[in-house]
Amino acid sequence: MKIIDLIKRNPVTFSCEIFPPKPHIPLDECKIVIDGIAKTAPDFISVTYGAGGGNSKRTMEIAEHIQTRYGIPALAHLTCVAASKEDVSSALRLLQSRNITNILALRGDVPQGMTAQEAVKDYRYACQLIQDIKAQGDFCVGAACYPEGHIECARKADDIDHLKQKVDCGCDFLTTQMFFDNQILYNFLYKTLAKGIDVPIVAGIMPVTNSSQIKRICQLSGTCLPERLGTIAEKFGDSPPAMKQAGIAYATEQIVDLIANGVKAIHLYTMNKPDVAAAIVSNLSQILGSRHKEKHTV
Ligand code: FAD
Repeated sequence: MKIIDLIKRNPVTFSCEIFPPKPHIPLDECKIVIDGIAKTAPDFISVTYGAGGGNSKRTMEIAEHIQTRYGIPALAHLTCVAASKEDVSSALRLLQSRNITNILALRGDVPQGMTAQEAVKDYRYACQLIQDIKAQGDFCVGAACYPEGHIECARKADDIDHLKQKVDCGCDFLTTQMFFDNQILYNFLYKTLAKGIDVPIVAGIMPVTNSSQIKRICQLSGTCLPERLGTIAEKFGDSPPAMKQAGIAYATEQIVDLIANGVKAIHLYTMNKPDVAAAIVSNLSQILGSRHKEKHTV
């Protein structure tokens, strides 16, 4: 099923992201993670992609496993940094052969050891990838967006112009980078509307369960760490179980507020932690609807 149809049909769409294990780790470990995530009954599961093609076969293998074993639509991420047109065409043929019709089209970050210039083969921006995917098959295509602006873009207004280009190139929906202050998302949604961006925007939520990682992630991505969350991380950071509980509570509150304010699609960055996803879904069982309520026990 196409994700755009799910988003249009459901009062609220709830989805999860997982990442493939490193090449030396057996896929079976990831299957345990998928099993736990599948029990939270997400409407779809997205699978990340190693920029530059590393680990890409695993993305497809895992996406196929999600669809065949659980009947849950998979969203396979695909990056174009350092890729040739032939690389992309062959990835698309593989996806088609595995019956994967939903793709999150990304530029990706410059792989380690390459300069930005070396990383441009046939693609400079994600919008070029979106065009090629749309031209080569009946895919539902999502793309990334950044409520606080993409870290490389000096002017936020330019970033929104670039986002509009992606939509004009045919992307069907957008998923946001994580944000910890809902007001930032609401302001961003107004700006996208003003720009004529009319595709659904899925709100990406990351539960903060590890205080040491969060400062680094915020620095790298340009995400604002609100004082309230900073205080929570400082207070509970030394106790992993307390931090986990606080992070689950914070993400739950964020989602309740988003849905109350009319946001229709929530994407959970699970960091491959099914217990965290299950706790959040359990907290939201009455809000997300019965299909999540019935299956959330992990
Ligand atoms: P683009 O849309 O191409 O934008 C990149 C930069 O170029 C931005 O600063 C933009 O403003 C600028 N730009 C775009 N078009 C133009 C133009 N025409 N002229 C001038 N400037 C322009 N990375 C991975 O490696 N694997 C993943 O699986 C992955 N999943 C992600 C999922 C989500 C939901 C998000 C939000 C990010 C994900 N990323 C992933 C990270 C992403 O690859 C990086 O943020 C990357 O730096 C930008 O990718 P993009 O697709 O947004 O690029």
